[in-house]
Amino acid sequence: EKLIVVVCGGGNAAHVMSGLSASRENVEVRVLDVFSDEAERWTKTLGDDSIVLTVNHPDGSHDEVRGKPNFITNDASKAVPGANLIVFAVPAFAHESYFEAIKPYVKPNMIIVGMPGQPGFEFQCFSILKDIAPKCCVIVFEGLPWAARITEFGRAITVLSTKDFLNCVVIKGESKIEGDPLKPIQYLLGPHPVATKLHNFLEPTLSTKSIMHPPIMYGAWKDWDGNPLSEKPLFYQGLTEEAAELMSGMSDELLATAKAISLKKPEINLDGVSHIRDWMYQAYGRECSDTSNLLQMLRTNSAYNGLLHPMKEVKPGKFMPDFTFRYLTEDIPFGVVVLKGISELAGVDTPITDKVLAWGQQIIGKEYLVGKSLCGKDVATSRAPQRYGYKSLDDFDPLL
Ligand code: NAD
Repeated sequence: EKLIVVVCGGGNAAHVMSGLSASRENVEVRVLDVFSDEAERWTKTLGDDSIVLTVNHPDGSHDEVRGKPNFITNDASKAVPGANLIVFAVPAFAHESYFEAIKPYVKPNMIIVGMPGQPGFEFQCFSILKDIAPKCCVIVFEGLPWAARITEFGRAITVLSTKDFLNCVVIKGESKIEGDPLKPIQYLLGPHPVATKLHNFLEPTLSTKSIMHPPIMYGAWKDWDGNPLSEKPLFYQGLTEEAAELMSGMSDELLATAKAISLKKPEINLDGVSHIRDWMYQAYGRECSDTSNLLQMLRTNSAYNGLLHPMKEVKPGKFMPDFTFRYLTEDIPFGVVVLKGISELAGVDTPITDKVLAWGQQIIGKEYLVGKSLCGKDVATSRAPQRYGYKSLDDFDPLL
């Protein structure tokens, strides 16, 4: 039987997912792109051609993969009916517009995939899709399977690297899907990455990498005098000791949150929650010339070599930090704020997270935290559980 896949988005992730899915046998691919006039531009640009993926391999060789989506539309009433899988392949700030667009057409037993989900995806999904969400299977990936960059909009993309394994969470709810719901998505991805199942959504959320960028931004810019710099500072190699300590402290607070949740609800398995230091060692130990502590791993990781702070050139050779970049504008509302919300529900104080959040929210002109409580007016546009009316840990039950 034919697999019908809706790929939501129009950026790098959506290009790979739609091209790759369309290259598989017996798959109908519908791209849903609700952003501006992107669907129309993409349709025109592609014409009758296929999307071409240049897939790089670790040994330096590469393959070419071609796939032609059946159609690209901004109209969910054309894309969603009859679909088996709906894959979100867009940045977190755009998820809401896709949930709203697909909502009238989602039917029981559809598989909704966050690729990646990012913290709060589950809260948002179950809140917007309300009664229908528990009848669907929701699968949330911890990251994107690839590092990828569009080389020609609508037509060509380079897959720089592919992960070997990728953690995911499967919320089967009341859905009735024959066999393993991961099977169709693994078929589309191919042999790699291998999708590995975690116990529940709290494991990846409390181990999220969204806590990396905000403390680094804090360390670099909290004492900045407001004057332009003559070069772009190194993001990881220039990391301050304070920033690494804050990152580690935020991670400690997440572990404390996991512990508090386990005490109150021992049935929730949180063995998979890990400290950022341990994750770093496992994921990048071989790439780091000094693994003695988190600071040194971040500074000496060859994969991070040469990465710079996001900066705007205001005059030739004069740079100002770009505080609109996703390191704060995404990682705070769809990261740190969600974590703070979960800690609050677990009754755990988070002084270190609060310190970074209080600084970051002021830089991006938002109010989430008031004192040490998550009750600012902009919680309403975050993905904190409080935004969706969660009052206690019991409210997590339908998502587990
Ligand atoms: P992207 O920057 O390519 O996404 C841009 C797309 O987002 C646009 O083409 C448009 O379709 C959509 N968009 C932009 N503004 C919008 C708006 N206001 N409303 C609705 N849609 C809007 O992002 P990406 O590279 O595809 O990344 C997707 C996710 O994967 C992100 O969370 C990213 O952090 C993560 N990720 C990406 C990579 C990578 O290599 N590309 C690697 C790891 C993780």
